[in-house]
Amino acid sequence: MSERLLLRSGYMLSMDDKVGESVADVLVEDGVIGAIAPRLEAEDAEVLDVSGHVVMPGFVDTHRHTWQTPFRGVCADWTLDEYFRGIRATVSPNCSARDVYAGNYVGALEAIDAGVTTVLDFSHCNNTPEHADAALQGLRDAGIRAMFAYGYFAAPVAEPTFAEHEQRLADARRIRERELPSDDGLVTMGIALTECGLLPFEQTIAEARSARELDVPMVLHSGCSWGLLVTEGIPELDHHGLLGPDQVHVHCNTLDERNFHRLAENGCKVSSSPETEIQMGMGHPVIRRALAHGMRPSLSCDVMSSNSGDMFSQMRLGLQFERCMRNDAFNAENRMPDRLDLTVRDALRWATANGAHAMGLEGHIGSLTPGKQADIIVIGGSRLNMTPMADRVGCLVAQANAANVEHVLVAGRFVKRDGALIGIDLDAARELARSASEEVLGRIAEQGLKLLWPGPPGFADAANAMAAEHLARAWAIDVAA
Ligand SMILES: [Zn+2]
Repeated sequence: MSERLLLRSGYMLSMDDKVGESVADVLVEDGVIGAIAPRLEAEDAEVLDVSGHVVMPGFVDTHRHTWQTPFRGVCADWTLDEYFRGIRATVSPNCSARDVYAGNYVGALEAIDAGVTTVLDFSHCNNTPEHADAALQGLRDAGIRAMFAYGYFAAPVAEPTFAEHEQRLADARRIRERELPSDDGLVTMGIALTECGLLPFEQTIAEARSARELDVPMVLHSGCSWGLLVTEGIPELDHHGLLGPDQVHVHCNTLDERNFHRLAENGCKVSSSPETEIQMGMGHPVIRRALAHGMRPSLSCDVMSSNSGDMFSQMRLGLQFERCMRNDAFNAENRMPDRLDLTVRDALRWATANGAHAMGLEGHIGSLTPGKQADIIVIGGSRLNMTPMADRVGCLVAQANAANVEHVLVAGRFVKRDGALIGIDLDAARELARSASEEVLGRIAEQGLKLLWPGPPGFADAANAMAAEHLARAWAIDVAA
């Protein structure tokens, strides 16, 4: 017998223009959205009354370093440069596979708790094959829908298991062939490129080509370091035919109009992480710029070692930032804006349908559309900050938080119900995250290392010179080679 669930009388916010928004019933059948209409009849279905609540597609986070979850708050006062030295160059090489498991498992649970049903896990702490296996297992055990984007970044470990960069590419192939051969599973495969400029461009080309050979999407940090050439490289990627619609470019703050146009005309996707970008000196979130180029911006939570892991924060910061920038133009003329152009519904679209589009999953998720996967969240409840939801959508975007996420379904299965995660030993999860945090930070202290080490003298100049050379060399490499 099929499993059927009827979500009765909620305010259905589909994020699909053809379905619209209204008080309606949503029928879930065998993990898929079966029907949406007022007063559906479904005799054998379990009925859950969600009247007074918003029923909407789960949030889609298009860039999260889930493995960093045990190091919450460590970077809350840091710049990007400090983050790079403290987390990427110091914490990462000191993480064991078990620590990465803890981060991905607990981080994915946190995401679910906040209504994030799909995450693009930018997993760049693969010090050994066991690290990659552990990261993947963490996502699987949490029950979230995820793209495990295998990160090729080589953390500076003393005795690297991957002696040659090619071994990393081979390990990603192993994961694709043995663990994630299907593109229809709850967890699918992606590739996370090393920042352009950090590697000889031949290796950047090899990384991008490996994603194409494995036939999986890729994600990379682009244009987020002012005055540094690391994370630039859009013209060089374009020259080698390596930009494309199978690609999520994260941040993009430093890109000039010409490079933004390159992304747009190649069908690339954009992910903005407003909270991190505003804090760390990356610059202005590019939501409006992406819209101006005809692109569909998506949102992401980014570094769990610094900021929040919920999309409410990203929607609010992204939306209010863009409003502030536009309002500023009026204020500069000593007058007030007479209206706002971007709305809370726009922000919801960035956090749902556009995220699905960015990940190449729009045919499956991102909206409440009959036939799509039943990744559904129900928001409301009795907490005072939702009482009353006088304007449901305004309240949801401007005021809600993870505690207001009452129910979460992934592929039709409850993963959170009545405000509690389902089938999870929370005490064990807490202990896992706590011990990973203590052990990694303890290992670093034992070696006499500090997270905020200044770096060798002239380090930034040397890195920039190296990136300049790598990018300059790109033009001498035979395009077809
Ligand atoms: Zn990132």
